Amino acid sequence: MKKVIAKIISLGLVLGMAGAMAACTSKKGTTVKSGTLTMATNAYFPPYEYYEGTDIVGIDAEIAAAIAEKLDLKLEIVDVEFDSIIAGVQSNKYDIGMAGMTVTDERKKAVNFSSTYATGIQAVIVPEGSEITDVDTLLGGDYKVGVQQGTTGDIYMTDDVGEDRVVRFSKGNDAVLALSTGKVDAVVIDNEPAKSFVAANAGLVILPTAYVEEEYAMCINKDNKDLLEKINKALEELTADGTIDKIIEKYIPSNG
Ligand code: GLN
Repeated sequence: MKKVIAKIISLGLVLGMAGAMAACTSKKGTTVKSGTLTMATNAYFPPYEYYEGTDIVGIDAEIAAAIAEKLDLKLEIVDVEFDSIIAGVQSNKYDIGMAGMTVTDERKKAVNFSSTYATGIQAVIVPEGSEITDVDTLLGGDYKVGVQQGTTGDIYMTDDVGEDRVVRFSKGNDAVLALSTGKVDAVVIDNEPAKSFVAANAGLVILPTAYVEEEYAMCINKDNKDLLEKINKALEELTADGTIDKIIEKYIPSNG
């Protein structure tokens, strides 16, 4: 009898606590850390996210800050490997992943995506004077291609040319350094970071033809519909009032 009563009391406590937690999360927004929007990124992807001193800045950082402000949350950015972001969002380590992340059907099986806020292009970087002059030559030849591990550049190239020709690096810039030193023949990476890396490393050019066009969005845990809705509403408002365009224009002036 005692045991049963103890069980009922503890069940009551658990239910009460669950109720209190639910109340608390719905008021402050459902986030992993109360009052905070925890964003996972990989901060080596200019102009979307990169270090300026010890601060992580860039298009994603600024859009996330604008969203956090609208949601009355404090933004906390965590810098992790790109290919650990989705798993961390799935396990509720982070609220959102925002890392110039392309929306793909495969990723949609694991996480939800917000509305898209930017477009991206998978570009091909080659050394000046390379015999690789377009995407078809790259795909058709026996060239080694450097990619950033777990990115769409990696996924699509592996699909198109096979494991043996793809060399994976944890940071995009490491792939570009390998290109500069002749360890790979080309690098496939998002166009805007490609421009930064080419500007910082002499003797490299971006092919005029795009490999793939894509859309960027934030990823959110599939169970957190509440946050998804709030973020999409904030994004809609920030698009309508020109904030998103202003942020993108600040970092990519040629965009319009
Ligand atoms: N857009 C690419 C992807 O989502 C690369 C993103 C990145 O390296 N940060 O896979």
